[in-house]
Amino acid sequence: MVDSVKTLIEKWVRPEIRALRAYHVPSAQGMVKLDAMENPYRWPEDLLPGWYARLAGAEINRYPDPEAARLKARLRQVFSVPEGMGVTFGNGSDELIQLIIMALAGAGSKVLAPHPTFSMYQMISTFVGVGYVDVPLRADDFSLDRDAVLQAIHKEQPAVVFLSYPNNPTGNLFDNDAIRAVIEAAPGLVVIDEAYHAFAETSWLNEVATYPNLLVLRTVSKLGLAGLRLGWLCGDPAWLREIDKIRLPYNINVLTQATAEYALEHYAVLERQTAALRSERGALLRALDGFAGVRAFPSAANFILFRVPTGRAAEIFDGLKARGVLIKNMDPAAPMLRDCLRVTVGMPEENQRFLDALRAVI
Ligand SMILES: *Cc1c(COP(=O)(O)O)cnc(C)c1O
Repeated sequence: MVDSVKTLIEKWVRPEIRALRAYHVPSAQGMVKLDAMENPYRWPEDLLPGWYARLAGAEINRYPDPEAARLKARLRQVFSVPEGMGVTFGNGSDELIQLIIMALAGAGSKVLAPHPTFSMYQMISTFVGVGYVDVPLRADDFSLDRDAVLQAIHKEQPAVVFLSYPNNPTGNLFDNDAIRAVIEAAPGLVVIDEAYHAFAETSWLNEVATYPNLLVLRTVSKLGLAGLRLGWLCGDPAWLREIDKIRLPYNINVLTQATAEYALEHYAVLERQTAALRSERGALLRALDGFAGVRAFPSAANFILFRVPTGRAAEIFDGLKARGVLIKNMDPAAPMLRDCLRVTVGMPEENQRFLDALRAVI
């Protein structure tokens, strides 16, 4: 007799995996969707025929170019990738985080990151079975606690340090001198995750040629192409050759390659959209700060973290949802984020609907 599925799972699935809860994506059907840092703007009509022609020409009966060479050449030019530095693509930057951790993980090795930060660093460390060390940010302004991080690096000797720049979910940029100190103290790799680069207008990309232990991670998701799943990692080609060994062949499909190439040929369109969102961010921040009892934290990303009166985060989140506006309740994520909610910057009319709903709830 073969055991039941339940018995088999208990016997064979790793306990740390059984203890996980699957990454939950709430339904946003019919809602003003301000929960996932997407760019709300679609492409202008006049861009569509050219895109359709590219897709029609794509050879979906063939495997994709494993190196995505044409896309890579275009991307190097658009983002001014430093001379001599390499680029590797991932199916979203999430996949690259996974590849980095898999490549460096081994007996006793650890991943280190500030806390709170992007949840995937910890989740993927758990999937892969590598130790994860988090170092609290300063509770008042979410800045990097330089001494605490340096001390933890010294003690834990992490294989990889992840720094989200700007940091998700707090929205701030860490101090450049503190980052430099981290890079200089780290015994292994430091990955600066610039998922929100388009909104921050500052970058460490040019420094990858300076520091042998620095890689910069980017994605086109927050830029306006979240549906494509395309991330890229930049740094010394020798690092990327190692990481490339565990990348599954053909991880970037034919349609993504064709579409991303086309999008980057029209990068000015995306730049106009992200510039509009940056200016909306300022308006939204001022409006939020105008609410009695609300504190909005400054942001260099396309979202804003804000604190509501004590004990009311869940109620306000639910009230917004009942009024058709989906944001994210960060209160359960970390004690430091108590009473905090996170809203993505949307189109002016979406932001207005959010503010109207917030006024009604609060
Ligand atoms: C959203 C996000 C990512 C994931 O990007 P994908 O390319 O969509 O996988 C990575 N890092 C940070 C900090 C993010 O906020």
